[in-house]
Amino acid sequence: MSAMPAALAALIEHLVRLPGIGPKTAQRLAFHLLKAPREEAAALAEALVALKDRTRLCRRCFNLCEAELCGVCQDARRDGSILCVVEEINDLLAIEKTREFRGLYHVLGGSLSPLDGRGPEQIRIRELQARLESGGVREVILATNPNVEGEATALYLLRVLKPSAVKVTRIARGLPMGGDLEYADEATLARALEGRREIG
Ligand SMILES: [Zn+2]
Repeated sequence: MSAMPAALAALIEHLVRLPGIGPKTAQRLAFHLLKAPREEAAALAEALVALKDRTRLCRRCFNLCEAELCGVCQDARRDGSILCVVEEINDLLAIEKTREFRGLYHVLGGSLSPLDGRGPEQIRIRELQARLESGGVREVILATNPNVEGEATALYLLRVLKPSAVKVTRIARGLPMGGDLEYADEATLARALEGRREIG
């Protein structure tokens, strides 16, 4: 027989699969929950199920939402003529935090990385092209990460978008090279957006 009851062991096993959670932290969290009031544990369990049941992707920009369109796409005050293309939803959230950008987004769902087997078919480039074909967009800001994959993705997009007659810009250098948009501080990110330049 194990020294630990099965339910406790099972919870620890689930927690340890979460990113950044080692066995010790998992055990500490499990004991915390064990001591917490039952309602608190139930609320956490409900929040997890609700997250899975209710959250989906915006059918226009692929941000997270609970309706057909996300909060950004639903906001009539946003400028639909400017699209900011990002790799991941976390990048979108980082740019939103700066409060500097009033256009719409397109979340690619990754970057091009031949070494990891991620080609143009694996990210939402076709969806981006379809949005541009439906008209109304005059500028596309390439805000992929300032690392090797992000730069390769931006170059590829530039080539693909060139025939479409929209202005293509790239966020300014100044973000730490090799870094991730999501970890840049708000002021740096705002400057990078503000200082974007037309490329191509
Ligand atoms: Zn959206």
